[in-house]
Amino acid sequence: MNRTAQGFRVLYGHPPEGVWAAPGRVNLIGEHTDYNDGFVLPFALPQRTEVAAARRTDRILRVHSVGTASGTVSRDLAELDPVHPPQGPDSWAAYPAGVAWALLEADVPIGGADLYIRSDVPAGAGLSSSAALEVATALALDDLYALGLTRTELAALARRAENAYVGVPCGVMDQMVSACAVEGHALHLDTRTLAQRHIPFDCASAGLRLLVIDTRVKHSLADGAYAERRAACHRAAAALGVPSLRDVPYGDLERALARLDDPVGRKRVRHVVTENERVRRTGELLRAGRLREAGPLLTEGHLSLRDDYEVSCPELDLAVSAAGAAGAHGSRMTGGGFGGSALSLIDADAEPAVTRAVTEAFVREGYAPPRVTAAAPSAGAARLH
Ligand code: ADP
Ligand code: MG
Repeated sequence: MNRTAQGFRVLYGHPPEGVWAAPGRVNLIGEHTDYNDGFVLPFALPQRTEVAAARRTDRILRVHSVGTASGTVSRDLAELDPVHPPQGPDSWAAYPAGVAWALLEADVPIGGADLYIRSDVPAGAGLSSSAALEVATALALDDLYALGLTRTELAALARRAENAYVGVPCGVMDQMVSACAVEGHALHLDTRTLAQRHIPFDCASAGLRLLVIDTRVKHSLADGAYAERRAACHRAAAALGVPSLRDVPYGDLERALARLDDPVGRKRVRHVVTENERVRRTGELLRAGRLREAGPLLTEGHLSLRDDYEVSCPELDLAVSAAGAAGAHGSRMTGGGFGGSALSLIDADAEPAVTRAVTEAFVREGYAPPRVTAAAPSAGAARLH
């Protein structure tokens, strides 16, 4: 029995029926493309959220997460209400409760359950602890109640929980990679069709390493700016007469830009269209085993996010420039922006030097030192016990 199962037994007085896990993620490339029906190329992290769970005979969902201040939170499945999800110290319970709500909304027959949650995905670092929690919960309920849902269906339900119950307008990338990733691979995902391709991404054999640089800042602009960028993209797509910016081929970019009056809208479109192209090129390089050559595309993507999409921040820019100066092949902010984490592709033996250079640069600027960890593309959600 692992620690999560033991924690369940101590708390609830009997062993769980199983333990399920789902990972956090970083997006190698394809940022702010998912709500434009575009392409993304994320991979799963070794850090994951574990959920030990057992069915109940009534319709109560009890959730407990190690490290939260709220103790055990109880919800009646009949009273889950997306308009008034939990507030205050219980607010985190909206994630697992939202998954139960989304299942019930889809007429999937579930009963009550006790959940004991333990995670080493840092929360709020842009590494998708939220999707890890949702997907682990969804997989646990799927197994416990023998629902037989596919990974794609579970990811869609988890996303619906976050959108409609928690109230966060995220795309489907995070849940899809957490649910579907394969160890040693990045997930090439078409966010319109949900077609997926697992592309070998074996950095270690290529003598490379991926560093995740968590800036440990989250600027308050993030939520408002995200909604504003989505709206700007939808306006631009309407002005161009296409369903979404995904439908602007890279080869038509200049013509499309010439048809837009709004200079800010033009920049947003340029980011999305060039970013989709960078995902395509990065995927091709990975498939060809030319991993090192993907580095410059990462840095190009960062500059596009900084200058055209305007969602970076000084800490992320500093992480990228300091890593570059210390010899990284390429680096970029990853996630929504305005804080969170940057990703850097480096030679394996450069890890100490790059980590030191980035940390020193932060200290020189008077920023708190970042949390730097190496990340290997890891497995998606699974039952552990
Ligand atoms: P990210 O997904 O990038 O980590 P989010 O703001 O989307 O950031 O999600 C973080 C929130 O998800 C936390 O504030 C908390 O409410 C919830 N959460 C994530 N993981 C856990 C966990 N293991 N236990 C309790 N709540 C969690
Ligand atoms: Mg999240």
